Amino acid sequence: MLIERGEDWSMAIALSDKVSVLSGVGPKREEALQGLGIFTIDDLLSYYPYRYDDLGERLPSETLDGEKVTFKGVISTPAVVRRFGKRSQTVLGLLVDRENVRVTFFNQPWIAKNLEVGQEVAIYGTYNAAKAALTAIKLVPASIDGLAPIYPVSKAIKAKTIAELVEQAWGQLRGQLPNLVPDELREKYRLLDKNQQVEYSHFPTDKVESKAGRRSAAFEEFFLFQMRLQLVKQADQSFLGEALQYDKARVADFVKALPFELTSAQKRVVDEILADQAAPQHMNRLLQGDVGSGKTVVAAIAMYAAVTAGAQGAIMAPTEILAQQHAKGLAKLFDSAGIHLRVELLTSGLKAAQRRQILEDLEAGDIDIVVGTHALVQDGVYFHHLGLAVIDEQHRFGVKQRAKLREGGVNPDILAMTATPIPRTLAITAYGEMEVSVIDELPAGRKPIITRQLSNRQYDQAMALLKSELAKGAQAYVVTPLIEESESLDVQNVTAVYQELQEALPNYTVGLLHGRLPKEDKDILMAGFSDNQIQVLVSTTVVEVGVDVPNASVMLILDADRFGLAQLHQLRGRVGRGDRQSYTILLADPKTDYGKERLAALVETTDGFELAQRDLELRGPGDILGTKQSGMPDFKVGDPVKDLTMLTIAQEEALKLVRSEHWDEKPENAALVAHLSETMAAFRHFD
Ligand code: ADP
Ligand code: MG
Repeated sequence: MLIERGEDWSMAIALSDKVSVLSGVGPKREEALQGLGIFTIDDLLSYYPYRYDDLGERLPSETLDGEKVTFKGVISTPAVVRRFGKRSQTVLGLLVDRENVRVTFFNQPWIAKNLEVGQEVAIYGTYNAAKAALTAIKLVPASIDGLAPIYPVSKAIKAKTIAELVEQAWGQLRGQLPNLVPDELREKYRLLDKNQQVEYSHFPTDKVESKAGRRSAAFEEFFLFQMRLQLVKQADQSFLGEALQYDKARVADFVKALPFELTSAQKRVVDEILADQAAPQHMNRLLQGDVGSGKTVVAAIAMYAAVTAGAQGAIMAPTEILAQQHAKGLAKLFDSAGIHLRVELLTSGLKAAQRRQILEDLEAGDIDIVVGTHALVQDGVYFHHLGLAVIDEQHRFGVKQRAKLREGGVNPDILAMTATPIPRTLAITAYGEMEVSVIDELPAGRKPIITRQLSNRQYDQAMALLKSELAKGAQAYVVTPLIEESESLDVQNVTAVYQELQEALPNYTVGLLHGRLPKEDKDILMAGFSDNQIQVLVSTTVVEVGVDVPNASVMLILDADRFGLAQLHQLRGRVGRGDRQSYTILLADPKTDYGKERLAALVETTDGFELAQRDLELRGPGDILGTKQSGMPDFKVGDPVKDLTMLTIAQEEALKLVRSEHWDEKPENAALVAHLSETMAAFRHFD
């Protein structure tokens, strides 16, 4: 060893020990380490470098001037220290292959003590080709021959300190770490033994090793995460559910009486959901389907099934407009099928007396299906027998509200629906505790929406298209962006656009919708647009979610670069809901690359799943639904976007293992079981 260590490490340490057992870790350092999430020796050894400085060992003849390089050689002339006040230079000769290199260390006079002529050393530094000289940065310890680990750090602690602590801990535990990933899987996927994995991750001698270490570490991380997830899920399902004895014949009659035939994707997800409802376990299912794929009717069928079993159904929407639309739409759907149900709307906009009546009837079981907003999960709402709770546009709701529905003694089956397509990565991670059903097909006869991106100078072109569509009897949305945090500025902006359009389109009725309008006005406007009394609806993004007016064929979005990709896709989904060829026009002069890429992606594809995956790549996972809400865990080694295949395999294998009999009693899984039970408590807080 080049770097001598004086410490006596006679005391044995364990993985579960606090980092303070290491020499050199006092209260201050311990706090700094905790700030990085490092509490135990186990945490420290799992704190992998995020990259490695290539100390690539080479010969002088292969090295360019000014390049950083590691020379390995024999010391040919003794290290001479020259001091200039506080500063110093230590110069020595290093014979690398057959070339003599003059090596200079600045301000590290102590280094001379460790260097003797004839000794073999490796030195990392910057090469000056003309002078055959190396300005040394550091001596490279034998253990990290070619690659120096670089750890993510905070201001409170240096990467070097972490490297030293890792080395210290590893010095004591080398060879003693138990494998958490079962042997069988390590063989199947050519994963390293845990000890090799740690060694290769922290102290690789070359890139092959560092890659192999990272690969095994990433798999271990994904696998452990999925094991916890599957265990939570198992616990959740064994949580008493209800086997709904729904009336198959009546449900089939309802499906037959629908004004359209279900797509095969809809039929498939209906089967999945009904099977869950009939099973004794508690259902916790996510229904994914792109905008316009027809999730509402699926929810209607599932709620109706609950009703035929003598229970009630509830559907919760994120906005009043959407709740109203659902209430009306559902009533119409059941009516036209000749089914007599009582569907009621429960929102915060109700008058006190009305509200009281609805609450009473709900508790008495006189209401079959209730549609509402957040008001549904407020205190004082009791059901007679809630059999199914549907959460529409579920990403709009916090985890808390989802949980709230399940509190208070009732534990209804949950069907969460989302029109913001959740990429597979997220479905596996954040929503991994739910089963997922996917509607991956649009109803027949839909024409793909044509999306165009125009610059602000091309406003006239956009207007020409809008006018020609209006002339054909179609309707249009014009969406203005949220300018700032300030709502009043948004209102000013949307009002200006509204006035301009009124003048430009004298033969049509233009409506103005924004968040500040009283509820009654919003209702009147939406109803007017639905009935085609209003042809052009100018609005802020309040129209974004769920609104269904099949006669609308133009979605014109102003300053489109101010919206996120998911939001733009949602807006686009407001058109193309009927037989008309529909258009989305993105008017913008994007300034950033990210802005340009987002709009380009929208023009290229209408596939929401692909867009969501691209968004994830463009933005990184933490941001897609807002970090907190996404529930996306922070992986330290693995990248759930880039390593999606590995993540998927880890999920499959974890599922297989927890479903295999007595897996947790087998001696070969003892270390894994112990590790999981230690980490489960913390994990439960992630949701
Ligand atoms: P989303 O999945 O975006 O919530 P909706 O449930 O609002 O979509 O459905 C969009 C439109 O498609 C509605 O007008 C609905 O009546 C219609 N629809 C749903 N399923 C079908 C189908 N199988 N065939 C034809 N139209 C359908
Ligand atoms: Mg919908």
